[in-house]
Amino acid sequence: MPVTDYDIVIGLEAHAHLLTRTKMFCSCRTTFGAEANSQTCPVCIGMPGVLPVINRKALMLALRSAVAFKCEIPATMRFDRKNYYYPDLPKNYQISQNYTPLGVKGFVEIETSKGRKKIGLDNIHLEEDAGKLLHPEGSGAVYSQVDLNRAGTPLLEIVTRPDMSDLDEVEAYMETLRRTLEALEISDCKMQEGSLRFEASVSLKPLGAAELGNRVEVKNLNSVRAVLNALAYEIDRQAAALDARERIDRETRLWNEELSRTERMRSKEEAQDYRYFPEPDLGPIVVLDEWLQEISASLQELPNERKWRFEDEYALPSYDAGVLTQKRAIADYFEAAVAAGRAEVSDPARLAKVVSNWVMGQVLKELNDRKVEITDFPVTPERLAGLVTLIESGKISNTIAQQLLPIMIETGEDAGRIAEQRGMLQVSDTAEIEKLMDEVLAANPKPVADYRSGKKAVFGFLVGQAMRQTKGKANPQVVAEILTKKLEN
Ligand SMILES: [Zn+2]
Repeated sequence: MPVTDYDIVIGLEAHAHLLTRTKMFCSCRTTFGAEANSQTCPVCIGMPGVLPVINRKALMLALRSAVAFKCEIPATMRFDRKNYYYPDLPKNYQISQNYTPLGVKGFVEIETSKGRKKIGLDNIHLEEDAGKLLHPEGSGAVYSQVDLNRAGTPLLEIVTRPDMSDLDEVEAYMETLRRTLEALEISDCKMQEGSLRFEASVSLKPLGAAELGNRVEVKNLNSVRAVLNALAYEIDRQAAALDARERIDRETRLWNEELSRTERMRSKEEAQDYRYFPEPDLGPIVVLDEWLQEISASLQELPNERKWRFEDEYALPSYDAGVLTQKRAIADYFEAAVAAGRAEVSDPARLAKVVSNWVMGQVLKELNDRKVEITDFPVTPERLAGLVTLIESGKISNTIAQQLLPIMIETGEDAGRIAEQRGMLQVSDTAEIEKLMDEVLAANPKPVADYRSGKKAVFGFLVGQAMRQTKGKANPQVVAEILTKKLEN
């Protein structure tokens, strides 16, 4: 059977480093790229007799994510020990949350070409990261090295329900999660530095079947691309196996980037394999109402919610709304410019789209060319609104406006003043244009004769000549009207 004869069931686990300066249970720094083992202390390297102290900032950031994703938050929570041995885990256990995760039953709302969909969250919990093993390559070395700088870094784990049914949804979920955690300053989400990592689980079942197939987990996914490639591979592999009436084992597989395939790592471990028990060195945490109120009050609109509001409130196409809300500061800039322009223009509905075109086009291009952030951009939203207002009121043409923006950036002056000083204001004065048109007609006797003998196609040429004569400052509509009048007479 082809893959389309199966329902695909996908869940994702995300691990995100929280944006804290120090570790989860000690005061070591979390700076990325520091010299190996330079950010360690007896607590995070697991010396006997040391005691963990909870990082308040990490706890608050984790709670912020639970509030943002509309989770139920327990009144009291604990940390638990997850016991396992691994060379980069010096304590031989990880402090995590198993029995009382800090958030359950929330959701992340995504959008694909099929529309919006809520991806349910099973839970969000807080834990500490392990260290990193380094395997010297090509040196013939028969040893590995361990760097414990990352050991104890505050880690947020976000576990979805198996709610995704194709790769578009998986991609949209990863992107939405990244944008949201970044916008809420919960994590910097730098996948290349390992501060956002994903693991996926996938199973197939015959179309419409109630019972889920055996689930395979895939690890070692270091980029969005790797997640999508690994899942595509795994879906094909499982479909082929099911077609051949083979059993799918419940197991963990590793993505081999080089060979573009998943490989069996181990049979799936169950929760009981970890011998979870409440962390005896940390007391229960009572979640105060005032913490949650404070978080709710300071929580801004989520990026996707803002995108959908832009579509509704400003009647923007989905594409525009997506680009504008990619970064919070850009979205803020857009809204401020529209607000500033509203009082000045006669057609406020059109204004939003015109401002959107300017922000997505010229403004983003200038920011990119000049390598500046929008918050340092010399043209304030009010100034951009001024420029747009000049275009909308017919005082300058679009061509002139394109030339004006770089001058505004260089001089810090407003558009109206520059246009006036440099004689860039559009000429709508009919008498003046009439005079210029007479000159154009006199200079082009042959096209004029052609036009009058019925070759109307030369009209475009004459308009071009006229615009050149006025150096782009004449109102093109007025030019066309006057030309027609003169030629028809
Ligand atoms: Zn430490």
